Amino acid sequence: MSAYDTNNIFAKILRGEIPSHRVYEDEATLAFMDVMPQGEGHVLVLPKAPSRNLFDADPATLPALIATVQKIAVAAKNAFDADGVTVFQFNEAPAGQSVFHLHFHVVPRRAGVPLKP
Ligand code: 5GP
Repeated sequence: MSAYDTNNIFAKILRGEIPSHRVYEDEATLAFMDVMPQGEGHVLVLPKAPSRNLFDADPATLPALIATVQKIAVAAKNAFDADGVTVFQFNEAPAGQSVFHLHFHVVPRRAGVPLKP
């Protein structure tokens, strides 16, 4: 596995070097809208601590991360009056990861509406 790249796009967003539509932030985590949403209200949730994905993440950072995922899932369900919420996460390119800073996808879902590819 490659080392963490401090110039990945989410590291730049965390440093404020690239704009993002932030919806939640605390001392350990950040959540912002996905620029290419797979559904209305698609949010990305990431730890501020640098990790490439779950393989190198410090376990101590994970409780705060999943707590923010839960906050965003509840908020997104309410804000979009959704029927449910999909949460997904990829580790390494063969598994679908394209930005190499650990993150979770949170997507409000409506009955009968598939995710965009
Ligand atoms: P991955 O495949 O790594 O799990 O997903 C990366 C996600 O980041 C994709 O859903 C993509 O649309 C999103 N993304 C990539 N670049 C940017 C960006 O510059 N800003 C935002 N807000 N999202 C991005």
